[in-house]
Amino acid sequence: MAFSPKTRKILVVFLITGWSLTLIYYFTQSKPLKHSQQTKQLFSDNRLLMGTFWQVSSADKQAAEIVFSEASRIEQLLSKYIQTSEVFQLNRLGKLKVSPETFYIIKQSLEFYSQTFGAFDITVAPLIDLWGFTNQKYHIPSDKEIESVLNLVGNDKIILHEKDNVVEFKIPGMKIDLGAIAKGYALDCAVKKLKEHKIDNCLINAGGQIYALGDNFGQSWRIAIRGIKYKVEGTLRLKNKSASTSGNYEQFFFKGQKRYCHILNPKTGYPVDSSIASATVVCDTGLEADALSTAILVLGKDRKNALIRKFPKAKFYIQEENPHEKQ
Ligand code: ADP
Ligand code: MG
Repeated sequence: MAFSPKTRKILVVFLITGWSLTLIYYFTQSKPLKHSQQTKQLFSDNRLLMGTFWQVSSADKQAAEIVFSEASRIEQLLSKYIQTSEVFQLNRLGKLKVSPETFYIIKQSLEFYSQTFGAFDITVAPLIDLWGFTNQKYHIPSDKEIESVLNLVGNDKIILHEKDNVVEFKIPGMKIDLGAIAKGYALDCAVKKLKEHKIDNCLINAGGQIYALGDNFGQSWRIAIRGIKYKVEGTLRLKNKSASTSGNYEQFFFKGQKRYCHILNPKTGYPVDSSIASATVVCDTGLEADALSTAILVLGKDRKNALIRKFPKAKFYIQEENPHEKQ
């Protein structure tokens, strides 16, 4: 969808997170708005957290710090890279009593596993390691290696002990990766904290995952969806909604002419060779938008409709891969 540069003031230009081509950015009118004789002013700040740039815009100066501190708290709890995190410890030990919050997010992940026909699967972690996405030492595994690692994959191999918040893996060597849901959850936590501080209007962009809280001086936040190759695909108006984008252009490596992306099909053990280049999902919560946008990439063009039907309240904006441009 075209729009004139004249009519926009880009609050945050592209949050280029190294490799991220599928981005969302947002803008308002070109002139500062007047309201009750006062200039309406948005404060904007950004920080690198959870492996991506977080950008916060709000009329309330405090908002950014509140959001960053909440995102950092969640990162410390759920990152598989931070040695003191509960997820790191669980991956190391295979069984752990975790906080109610970590238990909740793992339980939610299992719920998404069943609702997405197994496409969203946090036990893909050993496959992520095998393909080299964890340390950026990319490698194409043999079918045999994949087959053996696939034994560690599958949410049905996680046991949740509800009464004491213990999470247990059935098979030694299993690991979880909350990379496809933790940012969405952190957005929800940040919004909750903002509300506790009586901040009702704020736009948060966590590397392409948005939460639009309230509005922008009376107008819904306006979001532009960027597609692949820097093309603007359309604009959305959001209020108290989250938009999450997953794309096969987000993080990938090339071997020969073939592109391998960081979202894996848990059934085959291979990166999604998706017919979908990017999917933006708009939901009431960041958690749901995050999980569903990843799942859509896994399901691909042919199976996406079953998921779309299952979540009638969610809005899906899907960009299919152009076979002629495919690399
Ligand atoms: P991003 O975090 O780049 O915005 P996603 O939300 O789609 O994108 O999450 C991608 C991450 O999720 C991967 O880097 C990996 O850690 C993890 N992941 C990959 N495949 C799956 C899958 N099928 N189910 C759940 N998580 C996955
Ligand atoms: Mg996701």
